[in-house]
Amino acid sequence: MSASGFVSLIGAGPGDPGLLTLHGAAALAAAELVVYDYLANPALLDHARPEAEQIYVGKTASQHTMSQDEINTLLVDRALAGQQVARLKGGDPFVFGRGGEEALALAEANVRFEVIPGVTSAVAVPAYAGIPLTHRGLSSSFAVITGHEDPTKGESAIDWSRLATGVDTLVFLMGVSNLAEIVKQLVAHGRPAQTPVALVRWGTTPDQQALTGTLVDIVARVQAADFKAPAVTVVGEVVGLRPHLRWFENLPLIGQRVLVTRTREQASVLSAGLRALGAKPIELPTILVAPPEDWKPLDQAIASVQDYGWIIFTSVNGVRFFWDRLSIAGADARALAGVKLAAIGPGTAGELAARGLRVDYVPSEYVAEAIAAGLEGVDGQRVLLPRADIARPALADLLRDRGAQVVDVTAYRTLQPQIDADELRDLLAPITVATFTSSSTVRNLTAMAQRAGVHLPAALRSATIACIGPVTAETAQQLDLPVHVVAETHTINGLIQALIHYYDSSFDPKPSMGEDTKT
Ligand code: SAH
Repeated sequence: MSASGFVSLIGAGPGDPGLLTLHGAAALAAAELVVYDYLANPALLDHARPEAEQIYVGKTASQHTMSQDEINTLLVDRALAGQQVARLKGGDPFVFGRGGEEALALAEANVRFEVIPGVTSAVAVPAYAGIPLTHRGLSSSFAVITGHEDPTKGESAIDWSRLATGVDTLVFLMGVSNLAEIVKQLVAHGRPAQTPVALVRWGTTPDQQALTGTLVDIVARVQAADFKAPAVTVVGEVVGLRPHLRWFENLPLIGQRVLVTRTREQASVLSAGLRALGAKPIELPTILVAPPEDWKPLDQAIASVQDYGWIIFTSVNGVRFFWDRLSIAGADARALAGVKLAAIGPGTAGELAARGLRVDYVPSEYVAEAIAAGLEGVDGQRVLLPRADIARPALADLLRDRGAQVVDVTAYRTLQPQIDADELRDLLAPITVATFTSSSTVRNLTAMAQRAGVHLPAALRSATIACIGPVTAETAQQLDLPVHVVAETHTINGLIQALIHYYDSSFDPKPSMGEDTKT
């Protein structure tokens, strides 16, 4: 038995990263090495620690980056060397995933392991296509069958005569290239030729596509549409429910490639909201958040915070950095007793609320102008603005006009990430919608593109440009980006709602969709 090495064989689910189990996420977070393959969504790697080593072992039907033996050896060797290994496999590890072989190799080498089941594509892909595998009156049984085996070659391991008529719903994995043979066997063994059939490719992902027909015509349809793997094939009367139950492909942003330009830390909320609408978020952080070059101004302001009538927070990051310095100074929320707090929007207010601080004022429109106009009793008061180094001066100026003594301190710096030309071009090429959540996201992306020799308006020529509010939209227009969508409510949720409206105003989102956060 090895000292401490351990392998988790984790089912990654069928593609939608939301379909990973909680146990799977925990095992990924604990791993020192993550070994993943073709059908496991790379977005799941976000659950792993940044310093964890990641090895891609490929595996499409025809192309193997690493052979199964090499993968087995890799898992065994690393575990024997004492590592915590996460082996991420598409769908469920024990459903046609050769997870059994990997587990046997580990068992033989006396390596400790666990198997974390995953949501198999056999069940999830039909579900996302609106096909229940069992249904009262239509189907009382289903079977999951490999379509990989060529039924014409030698002895079949599949008992076609029993399968064709003995099971109501048949689900074939890996069955696209042998479809003609599968259909022939089913009909030859007594399945009625009019039985409905559906093929669903890239199920549960923004690329999901389905094709339906019957055993008579499905092969011709697949050829005509040049329908390719990976796909799940469903044979049975339940396929007839799809016209009534299809839902995923009806989502308003299905298939859209949406550029998310927020900081890495903030991107997840927007990305999750987009994913829930069928879109594929493509994250390109345009802002890196860093501490100020000099803490002194913020520290001094915190030391004398009782001298202030108001503190105005204009971003989530402002709250985070302010709070960290307050804590480092040995203080807590009591230091702010009697000082009034304002937040530019609900996201920032939420960040304060998470620290037990209730805001006294949030403007009804989440822009600097509205905050300056709406604040009561600032005349003659000291007002603290802990902000980004590059924040717009408008707010401070407007408050000064109203008689406030404004102290503007840098709570954090924003920096532009570097990206090389090829990487940027590849990333922008598929984009159909570009979102901007602040003027700096537009300016920074333009500058990043310029440095890489890419003309942003040309690169985004065919994309819909969506902005969180009028200020951001104006910046975009000044930089030659035509703006198609401006959110009415200047929050992440507002931006998502505006996109829904733009693409499908008849869509009624579920109540919890999207989260209000705002910078
Ligand atoms: N262990 C996996 C199956 C691996 S075999 C599971 O439980 O899902 C690979 C086959 O699974 C593919 O050829 C295809 O038939 C199916 N498959 C996996 N993910 C899929 C997806 N997102 N859409 C359609 N088919 C998928």
